[in-house]
Amino acid sequence: MIEIEENVSLRSLTSWLVGGTADFLARPRSIDELRDALAWASSRSLPVTVLSGGSNVLVSDRGVRGLTISLRKFSSAIVSVREATPPEQRAGAADAEAVNESRESRLEIECLSGTSKSELLKIFLKHKLEPALFLAGLPGDVGGGVVMNAGVAEQMKPREFVEFTDWFEVLKPDGGIRRYLRDEVEWAYRHCNGWQPGIITRVGLSWPLVPSADVLERVKAANKTRLGKQPLDMPSCGSVFKNPPGTSSGREIEAAGLKGFTIGGAQVSMKHANFIVNTGDATARDIDGVIKHVQATVKAKAGLALKTEVVYLGDWG
Ligand SMILES: Cc1cc2nc3c(=O)[nH]c(=O)nc-3n(C[C@H](O)[C@H](O)[C@H](O)COP(=O)(O)OP(=O)(O)OC[C@H]3O[C@@H](n4cnc5c(N)ncnc54)[C@H](O)[C@@H]3O)c2cc1C
Repeated sequence: MIEIEENVSLRSLTSWLVGGTADFLARPRSIDELRDALAWASSRSLPVTVLSGGSNVLVSDRGVRGLTISLRKFSSAIVSVREATPPEQRAGAADAEAVNESRESRLEIECLSGTSKSELLKIFLKHKLEPALFLAGLPGDVGGGVVMNAGVAEQMKPREFVEFTDWFEVLKPDGGIRRYLRDEVEWAYRHCNGWQPGIITRVGLSWPLVPSADVLERVKAANKTRLGKQPLDMPSCGSVFKNPPGTSSGREIEAAGLKGFTIGGAQVSMKHANFIVNTGDATARDIDGVIKHVQATVKAKAGLALKTEVVYLGDWG
């Protein structure tokens, strides 16, 4: 039976290092334990909140009511190679996509959703494949990457999760598991819809097995570039606001003179204006205050309504 902890601080489970306590917390390691946790909450009519890598969430100082499920231990990956179909067997393939897919060997990875993106990076790096470059510097877990359709601004392939996700499975509130193929759901800028409600449990990813000799060097260079542009030495959740069409939130926030704007321990980063950093003793309320001030100022000065990419969790009432 899954262990349920009571009154657990969520601070260390978020990359901003803020937030109150979960009334109850479960840290499942397997799908059976995840099912147990959901059944436990359901039998008590408690709401359920999912926290994976915690790198894109703002958890309220008042904490989270009901059961929080941390997916940090829900991690494992199976790697295999799907060989290209020999030409003589391809001739009768039913549709064009099937023919195309079978022309190349592919690296396939099937992982639990709490597997970290850095684990995934290591696998792609070992095979010298391009997704390693995409994953360089992307925090959080695979499931969170799917939910957010995490992506990068730089031109590269892949540059969003949708491009190498083949399918994912969702544990539904009734206890059943449903598999969604990539084209059965809606993928867009920083979200993936059409599969809710439920918890993403397993993800299937693949990429053509075409190694590039210099991937490691390019990963190192990408890490260096990020370090130069982003305040990675301070707790943050990356970009706080989605980019409006035709411009970047960072540019607009900087143009509004907001770099360095501070409330308590929360500050618009001097290095990257779309980051809000925790300078040491920030509360979630401080960060929320900075978010609201940035939104109001950019609206007044540039007429733009910035929408948050970061997800608010817990009791904000
Ligand atoms: C320094 C830094 C740099 C960043 N750079 C980028 C970047 O370049 N591009 C980018 O896109 N993002 C970036 N991010 C944001 C973040 O890393 C991504 O959005 C990431 O994909 C979130 O994954 P996570 O596991 O941390 O999700 P969490 O923050 O734990 O959760 C995000 C949301 O998804 C839900 N969720 C998570 N897992 C599941 C699941 N298995 N089933 C159902 N719901 C789930 C949660 O309830 C929450 O609503 C950055 C963050 C930091 C701290």
